[in-house]
Order: sequence, then structure tokens, then C-alpha cells
Amino acid sequence: MDSLFKHHADSDDRLPQIHRLLLGYFGEQKPREPWDPLSQFIYSLLSSRTKTETTYQVVRQLRARFGTWENLRDASLAEIEEAIRDVSFPEQKAVQLKASLEAITQRYGSLTLDFLGRYRTDKIRAWLEQFPGVGPKTSAAVVNFSTLRRRALCVDSHHLRVTQRLGLTPRADAATTEERLMRMVPETWSAEMLDEHHQLIKQLGQTLCTFAEPKCSQCPLLQMCPYGKKVLAADEQIAPRVASLEVRQAT
Ligand code: SF4
Repeated sequence: MDSLFKHHADSDDRLPQIHRLLLGYFGEQKPREPWDPLSQFIYSLLSSRTKTETTYQVVRQLRARFGTWENLRDASLAEIEEAIRDVSFPEQKAVQLKASLEAITQRYGSLTLDFLGRYRTDKIRAWLEQFPGVGPKTSAAVVNFSTLRRRALCVDSHHLRVTQRLGLTPRADAATTEERLMRMVPETWSAEMLDEHHQLIKQLGQTLCTFAEPKCSQCPLLQMCPYGKKVLAADEQIAPRVASLEVRQAT
């Protein structure tokens, strides 16, 4: 099954097409100024189920309050939890953050992730995924968004939902979805372009392809989206019934 899928995926140009259409709709994305890998790691650990701007704000406050990431690591759990209270699940994330920063220090000898630049991408990701709360989404964000700038696709909840609605891959978890999408990514796409693709899909998920109410009639991907076509077809079937009910009620 997977080899059949791979054969189809190898000749698939849907991702470049999606990228072009989304660029046309949302416009050029502001290029990211990549952070060092440790700062990106901290940001990504805090970011799940939290608005992007809130997470940026919390990371800025952490820098101002603790001065160094070593001071953050050495702070008490209660203090860390209090400092990150604006992100979702602060109690759980404070435990994961402190434990991860301590484990990195123990394994490397000091608190940095700059040394990861010497390793292959798959090795870096496996190393990062040993730490509490770190899954494929966080490891992809660290290798792709930070100054490491490696090829990876960060599949967050928006990316997962949009991908499934577009029928790009069978329903699966983030790791499997990323693996399948990466087979469809042209070899010419750089790490920066994969980052831009992630940003475009995220923007689509936040604005049009929302969880509760996708605005398919406004979506630039409608012509290639089986889910969107079904939503519109259902709306068209319902609309005449609603109109006739309204007429009957008015008479
Ligand atoms: S057409 Fe609808 S379901 Fe499909 S990607 Fe666009 S908003 Fe999402």
C-alpha cells in the first residue's frame, strides 16, 4: 500500500500548486529571522494550543525576567509556571521545560543546542524527541525554523486538518503525515521554502480552513479540495429547502 502511495506521490505536483495558489491569495510571507536552536526549542515547547503572538510575548517576557536560559532552567517549577501562565497547560509545560533544559545540560555539559549543527537532520530530530513533551512537530520546528535551517515540515494541528481535508494523504498522525508530505515536496524546495509553505498552510487554517466553520466558498484551493466541494454541494442542496421553508412561514 505504501509503495503504491509512494509511486503516486513521486509524480504529484499538488504541493507546488497549493503553494502558488496560497501565495497568490495571502501574498509573500515575511521571511523569518531564525533564532538559535535552543530559543526555538523553548518557543516550540510552549507553543502548542497557544496563539502565536501569545507565545512570542511569553518568550520575550522569559528573556526579560530570567536574563539567561540557565536562570530559567534553575528557577523553581512554581516560578516557571507563573512566568508562562499565559500559554495553555502552563503546569504541564513548566515541568517539561525544566526537565528538558536540565536533561540537555546533563547530556551535553552545558545549556546549548548549537552543537546540533554538526549532525544529520534525522539524528538531531531523534535526539530532540527523547525529551519530555517533544514530538515530531517540535523537532521539525527546531530543525527547520532555527538557524539550523534543515529540510523538515512542521505539521501542527492546522497543517494536519488542512492536509486531511485536501485529501493529500490518508488520515494519520503528525509524524506519518510529515513523512508522506515530504515525499511530495520537490527536491528543489529549500528549508526556507518549506518554512514558507508551513506559514501559508497555517494562515489558511487560521483564517479560512478553520476547525469549526471552513469558508470553502472563499478558498483559493476549492477546485482541488474534495472536502470543500462536498461542503458546498451540501450547502447548495440545503439552500432551496431553507428558501421554501421561509416562503411557507411567510404565507
Ligand atoms: S476548500 Fe474548504 S476544506 Fe478545502 S482547504 Fe479550502 S477551506 Fe479547507
